[in-house]
Amino acid sequence: MGSSQSREPPKKQRVLVVGAGAAGTACAWSLSRFPERFEVEVWEALPVPGGVASSCKVKDGRHVINDQVQGGAPSYRHNLSLLQLFGFKPTPVHMRIAFGVGEKQWTNHSPSELTTRLQPEIERFGRLIRWISRLEPLFVFIPIDRVLKWFRFSHEFRYEMILPLVALFFGTGNQTPHVSAAVIARVFLDPDLRLFDYCPQRLLNSVPEMFAFPVLEDIWTTIARQSNFKLCCNRPLAKLVRTPGGGAVAMDAAGTSAAFDSVVFACDAETVLKTLSNPTWLERRLLGNVRYYTDYCLTHEDHDYMARKYDVRPAQRDNYFVRTYAGRDADKIEMSFNLSTYQPHLKEAGLDIYQTYYLDAKQKHLWSDKEVDPSKVLASRWMRQFAHTWTHFACWVPWGRFIQGTHNTYYAGSYTMVNTQEIAVMSGLAAAVRLGADYPFPHDPLAAKQMDTYLAVAHGASRPKQLQQQQQQAQAQRGGAGAGGSSTGGSGGSSSSSAAGVKGVVPLVAGAVSSSSGKPA
Ligand SMILES: Cc1cc2nc3c(=O)[nH]c(=O)nc-3n(C[C@H](O)[C@H](O)[C@H](O)COP(=O)(O)OP(=O)(O)OC[C@H]3O[C@@H](n4cnc5c(N)ncnc54)[C@H](O)[C@@H]3O)c2cc1C
Repeated sequence: MGSSQSREPPKKQRVLVVGAGAAGTACAWSLSRFPERFEVEVWEALPVPGGVASSCKVKDGRHVINDQVQGGAPSYRHNLSLLQLFGFKPTPVHMRIAFGVGEKQWTNHSPSELTTRLQPEIERFGRLIRWISRLEPLFVFIPIDRVLKWFRFSHEFRYEMILPLVALFFGTGNQTPHVSAAVIARVFLDPDLRLFDYCPQRLLNSVPEMFAFPVLEDIWTTIARQSNFKLCCNRPLAKLVRTPGGGAVAMDAAGTSAAFDSVVFACDAETVLKTLSNPTWLERRLLGNVRYYTDYCLTHEDHDYMARKYDVRPAQRDNYFVRTYAGRDADKIEMSFNLSTYQPHLKEAGLDIYQTYYLDAKQKHLWSDKEVDPSKVLASRWMRQFAHTWTHFACWVPWGRFIQGTHNTYYAGSYTMVNTQEIAVMSGLAAAVRLGADYPFPHDPLAAKQMDTYLAVAHGASRPKQLQQQQQQAQAQRGGAGAGGSSTGGSGGSSSSSAAGVKGVVPLVAGAVSSSSGKPA
């Protein structure tokens, strides 16, 4: 009897992934590399996968644009690896930002009157962030604006320089004054996170090399098509009931039910709380700590609006424009950017398409969206975004681990940490690791390090040791650098082609960077 039992194939785990944004798609792809272990179904409320990493057509359908997520940094190892596995190429871009207008104008690439005037404070800020970094466990609970007030930084420095800069880094919008001071220090000092080097003369004095995503919708649909999971679009989860046996019964909006062994919620925390019929006390408390705000975005071609509101100098080729509101509302901002600098096909078509973000619907009275010429508006969109307030980092991020895995339920999505595309993808891969899928990119030391940190913080877990050792051995046998294990398995392709794809990740980033700086790729 024992031997007949041992010959039985192990039961496949039926996994439901809720949401096909970056997190959900990455999770489903990673699990689907092991069809003998997992049967994966993804339920997505929208007609297409991608979530906020989306594309749409404008100008009578003649041009496709990525209309929310645009790009990332070379440290986005997981995104870059995925792009490469599925044959997509990122485009190099330089991040050039124009802050403020008139005498409040400054940039990350040229000197200005404001930075000259505020230079002593810029220097003092450099000393302060080093202290914050040394005392990180303390400063993690203190909002940046409070710290700057304690240390008597001027209104102008706080609201014309630091606030818009942080808002841009994190997409924190009008919650920026409440961002944890420790997080700000990390952005300047942590070598793995650093986007800009701190400059004691001008605060910023570099043009970071970034990359822009190819057409996002193509990426997600290609991954879904070439992978071994079932993507069900237009199928919103309406209710999830976890059963005493450890599984769950999911019901969609049409009332159809299906049973699963495990669930990965890769949608927003608000939807989790709405659909999970029997959350534990801790799940309710912790997920309730993720705060969302409603923003509005106009995609337009109104150059006059841009010239009136921002410091637009075509020769500078800035891609971001940030301004704070006047007077008592100086702690609130409006942001725009030139989509055409991120999406070269628009430039080639002779188009300058802008997007302007109006933040927090509760502050609607400040918005100047009505000043955009309606005949020049190409698209508009309402969005729910979570905020990186200090409470996010104090009351949710470090505690989320205690609900990961409760009743075979896992949580993925950028809200589990910070609002970036890289965290979204990593969170999906991490949920897959917790369910038993091998981590796909162990050969990339930076990616593996980032994943280990994510797993430790968001799950209180680590990659299985035995697996790490096997992967290191496999790597050594293949001659080290870049060889992906069979677990790397690009879906739809053979493991060898996937490995070859992954192998090129580092040169790809370097190539993108060097070609963008005019050096040979
Ligand atoms: C406007 C904007 C621009 C951004 N730009 C950048 C950028 O340039 N670079 C960068 O690094 N980051 C950027 N970000 C942040 C980053 O892209 C996001 O954090 C990331 O894409 C979020 O992915 P996600 O999978 O966590 O969530 P989402 O993309 O929100 O995916 C969640 C999915 O769940 C689905 N869903 C919701 N409810 C249900 C339900 N009941 N049943 C089934 N499915 C459901 C949704 O339809 C959605 O597809 C941007 C964010 C926004 C909003």
